Amino acid sequence: MDNANQSKETITFLGTGGARFMIISQLLASGGLWFNFDGTQILMDPGPGCIVQVTKRKLNPQELSAIIVSHRHLDHSADLNVMTEAMTDGGFQKRGILFTPRDAMETDSILHSYLRKSIEGIEYLEAGKTWSVGNVSFTAPVRHVHMVENYGLIFKTKKHTIAYITDTRYFEELGSYYRGDLLMLNLTFLHKRTVPDRPGAPMDHLSEPDAERLIKEIKPKTTILTHFGMGVWRAKPELVAAALTEKTGSKVIAATDGLVYDLAELDKI
Ligand SMILES: [Zn+2]
Repeated sequence: MDNANQSKETITFLGTGGARFMIISQLLASGGLWFNFDGTQILMDPGPGCIVQVTKRKLNPQELSAIIVSHRHLDHSADLNVMTEAMTDGGFQKRGILFTPRDAMETDSILHSYLRKSIEGIEYLEAGKTWSVGNVSFTAPVRHVHMVENYGLIFKTKKHTIAYITDTRYFEELGSYYRGDLLMLNLTFLHKRTVPDRPGAPMDHLSEPDAERLIKEIKPKTTILTHFGMGVWRAKPELVAAALTEKTGSKVIAATDGLVYDLAELDKI
């Protein structure tokens, strides 16, 4: 056993694209996030191509303790079934817990019924609840405002707190629910946009001005932006991150496909 590796806390970005046009073009990958918190490995939001990214990066699905799906949209759940097969060695080794909103299982289940017996259990995400898996605990602080039931999470590892704000419409109290040394934020839009057929109604995704407000309010040591839509991609995520660093006075970086972020970086700040 590699002890040096075991004591590490890393986040691997299996994709940084978000929303439908990035996903169907695959200009950026869309495989979700792979957490390794001191040996406890968790897959979050296995979007399209997750299995491709995981095998390419030589990660081992049979070491996963859990899969978390923030919400049922395709860019967060499309590869759940194949990743469940991979986690359970083709269904032969019962393992892993699936964490998901109830609506993703009850209406038109995101997990095929024949695969349910392969996993150890299903836990429904609920606002205010906390769960423990191996070396990490996590809380769903608030239900997001999105088209379907959806939750962001705050992870507490032995050494760090990580706030992950998944897709949501910006709302006034959003920032007050999240605290962390590291903030990960799904930045889908560059500009604030409104729903085409509902003038004045904001879209259910965060934009760059929302990110600025959230970073200033949450004051993390570092923010990592991901889940970029077409507009952010065209504007170059690293330039958007640099501008946000300037505006907020706090370190903001843009994730790239395949980035392995070592949480020890946070201890240097
Ligand atoms: Zn979504």
